[in-house]
Amino acid sequence: MFNYSDITLEILQKDLESTIKDCKTLVKNIKSFENIVLSNFDELESTIHDLSGRIAFMGDVHPDEKIRDFGNEADSKIQNFVLELFKDKELYEKFSEIQTLSLDDESKSFHKDLEIDFKDTGHGLSDEKKARLTEIEKKLIDLSISFSENIAKDKTEVLFSENELKGLSASELKNLKKIEDRFVITMAYPEINAVMENCSIRATREIVWKAFNNRAVEENSPILKEAVQLRNEKANLFGYETWAHYRLQNRMAKSPENVTLMYESLISKLQKAAEIEKKELVIDNIDIDDISPWDIRYFISAQRSKVSAIENSELKKFFFIHDVKTEMFKVCEEVFDLEIKPESNKTAWHKDVELWSLWEKDGQQLAYFYLDLYPREGKFTHAAVFDISSGGSNRQDLPICSMVANFPSPNTGDGLMTFDEVETLFHEFGHVLHNGIGKSKYTRFVGANCEWDFVEAPSQIMEHWVWKVECMKRISKHIESGDTLSDEICEKLNKSKNIGVSLLTLRQVSFGLADQHLHGKNFKDSLLEIEHAAQEVTTISYPKDINHLAAFGHLLGGYDAAYYGYIWAEIIGDDLFSRFENEGVLSKLVGVDYKNKILMPGGTIPAETMVQNFLGRKWNDSAFLTQKNLSK
Ligand SMILES: [Zn+2]
Repeated sequence: MFNYSDITLEILQKDLESTIKDCKTLVKNIKSFENIVLSNFDELESTIHDLSGRIAFMGDVHPDEKIRDFGNEADSKIQNFVLELFKDKELYEKFSEIQTLSLDDESKSFHKDLEIDFKDTGHGLSDEKKARLTEIEKKLIDLSISFSENIAKDKTEVLFSENELKGLSASELKNLKKIEDRFVITMAYPEINAVMENCSIRATREIVWKAFNNRAVEENSPILKEAVQLRNEKANLFGYETWAHYRLQNRMAKSPENVTLMYESLISKLQKAAEIEKKELVIDNIDIDDISPWDIRYFISAQRSKVSAIENSELKKFFFIHDVKTEMFKVCEEVFDLEIKPESNKTAWHKDVELWSLWEKDGQQLAYFYLDLYPREGKFTHAAVFDISSGGSNRQDLPICSMVANFPSPNTGDGLMTFDEVETLFHEFGHVLHNGIGKSKYTRFVGANCEWDFVEAPSQIMEHWVWKVECMKRISKHIESGDTLSDEICEKLNKSKNIGVSLLTLRQVSFGLADQHLHGKNFKDSLLEIEHAAQEVTTISYPKDINHLAAFGHLLGGYDAAYYGYIWAEIIGDDLFSRFENEGVLSKLVGVDYKNKILMPGGTIPAETMVQNFLGRKWNDSAFLTQKNLSK
């Protein structure tokens, strides 16, 4: 196992150079082989993959800034190296010699994926088209950098008197900058959230909402227009009708038409529920037909405190991180028939990082995983799981991944988690299990390396356990009394779970529709037209002069034509959980079936088939609607 604890810049530099050199030698050898086989390409991929796990990964987690910087630089070097490999004409010609007839299905999929990667760089295109492809790609990279820079650079501030910020708590006000006697609201999330959720002055919410949703509009609107134009041109070069068709070719959804079907099935049901929800939520004598986007989160937050009336600070006392983690492991061991054992963390990059091993119950070891749970200066600021070594049956080692998160630390603080954080821990652990259990002979399909719009389903599903009383009680233990949550609190929490859910989901749907519109046949429509068409589904009246697409970072941040994936994976995750719901939340029988049919195949078989194998039928959205109390 790679030892992260004693790395130095020099070691990493040498590693990067020599591994790239080894890969180049391997490429040279492949080109000279008489009989080339797919495993030659897998060797290349797994070598590069593990190199990223040793070096690029350090860019996100290493305590030393110099090593983080080196990791980030190495990351783009490695990515460029991979791109150059696929551009290599001789290598592509050699790849084309592989006979596919006698290959097994897994190998055929690997071959097909490689073929797409090669062709993506322009093999098969005329010289003229190839040159244009290079221009487009270069331009798209520049555009996406400017797009996110413009959002980050937007320094809009709005000033308010204390009266205009009525509803904000004393501590929220205390955190705000002041200019003379006026408070400054910047576009930072904590400040935006405080106003949108708690401010009872409607005019203030409106001003802040508009400012936030109009960020970077001047600078980014032309950038977004140009990007969608170029993407469409690129798709056409490859013979695809639209960017969405091109992007979805190896996704579970397969085509934008299927995405449309998914949305169509949901929209009318969500809209019907939203009408009822509006009546339940509306306060402050606002007319129902006049409800505006800046009212929704405020209504929901008011309703939540009415229904659950649990102080967050009190609730946290039930969720000490080590206790939650230990009990989460036990639940997973039981349900999925696994064993999770502590290991010495002497190979870790920081003393707070834990190492664990994952085993089949009374059987073979499956994987290792690191838990890097607490914030540190310069560390990745969200929560995610990084796949750092792929293992796999052609290779000697076991797969290794790391959860990287920012939970409250018991070492420097009280280690007490909010309920949202508990949910996040379970979600991320779903990725860990997928990474550790998924098997393939090819690095490309190991663990969570599956279709992109499916990858969140095995983590979404984990969130359900947190809400189930059987599990909710087990993972809660009061830090002083040792009590578990009372039935009453469990019920209150569950009651508050779905407040405003149709309105919030419709907002997500409208984002996804705008994304599909921008990358579909009618990409030439004006941004305002696209924005308004998408907002129509929300049943809320939006102002006509605000265009939030210019500040919608996902559109140039890798989620182009792919934003639908959030809801898609949630629908699948909920449908998978329906078997637990029907046959027992803690049922080992279902858990083992889930492990074998969903987690173990990794990316080796199409997600559609895996889901069918596990459910015994095609997936649908009824569990998703039931979860949200929308099935009536
Ligand atoms: Zn996730």
